[in-house]
Amino acid sequence: MSASGFLSALKAEGVKVVEVGSWRTHNRNHKGPWGPMHGVMIHHTVTSGSARTVEMCREGYDELPGPLCHGVITKDGKVHLVGYGRANHAGLGDDEVLRAVIAEKGLPPDNESNTDGNRYFYGFECENLGDGKDPWPDAQMEAIVRAAAAICRHHGWTERSVIGHLEWQPGKIDPRGFTMASLRSRIKAQLKG
Ligand SMILES: [Zn+2]
Repeated sequence: MSASGFLSALKAEGVKVVEVGSWRTHNRNHKGPWGPMHGVMIHHTVTSGSARTVEMCREGYDELPGPLCHGVITKDGKVHLVGYGRANHAGLGDDEVLRAVIAEKGLPPDNESNTDGNRYFYGFECENLGDGKDPWPDAQMEAIVRAAAAICRHHGWTERSVIGHLEWQPGKIDPRGFTMASLRSRIKAQLKG
């Protein structure tokens, strides 16, 4: 999907989009391949404050240069586009999980870090402290559902192509505060509706 196609798909799904800087060409493509795409990965940022969160996800930090995802989903339900192309969000994960995502099957436990996820997954970072207490407002959850559904609809994928970072890479806990099963059931309903 082109950057323009990505933007159109999000808007068609009713997502409130904010375009940040030169997001269409901000990526890590010089560091490795991007694509073919197989799924969507959901994260939490462990930050608070929308402006700071968007900035951090765009720029990254010393040990992990940005972009850290494609879209940042803030608590007000907006999706801020910060990059398009390879982004530093998924890291190394489990090849068996990738095979299950491609086959649209139930996920095996993630117990290996042997596969480059930044190549195969769209990534959304969601503003949340990730402490299990910080709330996930309705507007934000709705934006996560719609953003993920937009990509699934474009590619002809089911909700099973949407996974959490915690389902990909051993040791990761994000996103925390809702279950991926509940999110996938909402995405399924969105895709039907
Ligand atoms: Zn993550």
